[in-house]
Amino acid sequence: MEQANELAAACCVEKTQVRSPPVCPNSATRGRSVSWETVAALTSGPLPLKTAYLVCEDPDCDVVYFSVDGRSVVNRSNVRHLPLAKAGLQGQACFCFDHRLTDILDEIDRGRQSRIVESIRTATREKKCACSVRNPTGRCCLGDIKKALAHANSTKGA
Ligand SMILES: [Zn+2]
Repeated sequence: MEQANELAAACCVEKTQVRSPPVCPNSATRGRSVSWETVAALTSGPLPLKTAYLVCEDPDCDVVYFSVDGRSVVNRSNVRHLPLAKAGLQGQACFCFDHRLTDILDEIDRGRQSRIVESIRTATREKKCACSVRNPTGRCCLGDIKKALAHANSTKGA
C-alpha cells in the first residue's frame, strides 16, 4: 500500500511540473503549433522527424519550424515557401490561389477594397482551399494577410 502511494506521488509530481511554452531554439520567439503533415509537405529533402512542431514567425530568424522537444529544426533554406510573416512585402500571401501581398496592397492603394481578399474569403467559405498542405503555417491565410496589411500600413505612415 505504501509503495502504491509512493508511486502515485511520483506520478503526480511529474504531471504537475510546469512546462514552459515552446519557444524557437534560435530566436526564443514563441511558436505557433503546426502539424507534422504541414511541415512534411513544405520541407524539401528528407522527411523531418515525425513529432509535434511549431512555426517561428520572427522575420529575422533563420528557423522556420522546430519540434516541441527542440530535437528537430528546419531552416529557411529547407522550406519550399516562407510564412508571410517571415517573407515581408514581397512574400506570397495566399498559397492556395497564388496571390502576393504586393498585389493586395496595390488594390488598396488605388483606393479600392481588395477584390483578392474578397475572393479568398469566398473560396474559403466554399471550402475550396487546401491551407493545411499549401500554407507554411498550415492555417487559412486571411488572418496573416490582415496582420501583414496592418503592419504595412503602420510602417507606411511612419
Ligand atoms: Zn526563430
